[in-house]
Amino acid sequence: MNVRVGAATDIGQVREGNEDSYLVVAPLYAVADGMGGHRGGEVASSLALETVQQLFERQEGSLADQVSRANRAVYDRSQSDRSVSGMGTTLTAALIDENKVHLVHVGDSRAYLVRDGALTQLTEDHTLVHRMVLEGEITPEEAETHPHRSILTRALGVDESVQVDEGDVQVESGDRLLLCTDGLTGMVPEGQIQEILRDAADPQEAVDRLVKVANRAGGIDNITAVVLDFGEAGDKGATKASAIPHQPTVEQPVPKVAPPERSDITIVGAPIPEPPPEDSASRSGPSSTTTSSLPAVRPAPTTPRSHRGRRVGIWAGVTISVLVLGVVGARLFLDTQWYVGVSNGRVAIFRGIPAEVAGFDLHSVVIETSLSAAKAEALVAWRGLPEGITTDDRDGANAVVEQIRKDLERAQQPAS
Ligand code: MN
Repeated sequence: MNVRVGAATDIGQVREGNEDSYLVVAPLYAVADGMGGHRGGEVASSLALETVQQLFERQEGSLADQVSRANRAVYDRSQSDRSVSGMGTTLTAALIDENKVHLVHVGDSRAYLVRDGALTQLTEDHTLVHRMVLEGEITPEEAETHPHRSILTRALGVDESVQVDEGDVQVESGDRLLLCTDGLTGMVPEGQIQEILRDAADPQEAVDRLVKVANRAGGIDNITAVVLDFGEAGDKGATKASAIPHQPTVEQPVPKVAPPERSDITIVGAPIPEPPPEDSASRSGPSSTTTSSLPAVRPAPTTPRSHRGRRVGIWAGVTISVLVLGVVGARLFLDTQWYVGVSNGRVAIFRGIPAEVAGFDLHSVVIETSLSAAKAEALVAWRGLPEGITTDDRDGANAVVEQIRKDLERAQQPAS
């Protein structure tokens, strides 16, 4: 298979630095979206991709192994260098081997395939909102605009080990593959991404147009896209994909979330305490254990059925440890979030986010003040207190509490 590539990364309209990175070293392609402060984010995404590249060039282990070692490299740096402590990164990579694409994935960057004009998402977001959608707590539409949509349940560099999704996709001449960060998918509707990928004459034009529309839509995050075009190796241009007799049916609308047959990849297994009873009713199978392997591209399975079954079995076996790791990862990210809310009838400072998922509190009380929450809520300005007032950091939370204290004092002074 002949591969042509286009790639671009852009700071966007709002951010002061670009924490995204990409890798284009044929036959290996990847994007990474770093987080954890300016410097932390840049270090995390570039260190992860450099590590993968070095291990790949030395041919050490599988791509998933290389990503695991990149996780360890980011984690070790984050532990030893205080200026980047708490950093992490997403990573979505594609390794091309003839007409097979091997994908590995952690986080909320994405891989998409365009075939015959239809767009298929190949990766599953490791985000809190995606988990909430799977749990039936929110709709896919609500997830798109949810205030906590950028909270990851898995990322590289936040723990000693990480669960890496992987899977293979068969590609055909005429296929187009997109790897991108959420600076694109968070700004541009899938329909528009699909249109551009369908219409752009070559891969570089495609990425340039994608970056442009993301910026035009606001560009609130860094934007990175890598597009691969697959063609016949020789000069057999006459063999059009549409002429191949055994054509898989891919002419379906793009699924916004896991389609039904992906029931084997949801994360609603045992380790989440007390899942709502309605949820278990909506599960399609008797099994409550689930796996988190990369959903294969929807067209015809690329591996024999027996092979697939075995793999699913293996994944099911490791589900529990995977879920524990996922939650630990989320908690580390949550630890950097702050808000002011109500605890035991008092105004309180919390670490985390004012939400819970299937019985999981995603926050913990840091300080319970002596201020009455009821009195504060009686003031128009603080009516939203029970829902939580999120702040950038601990200082911001302190400032909110101070303001509430002042407003309460002022309200208690007799009007004169
Ligand atoms: Mn991003």
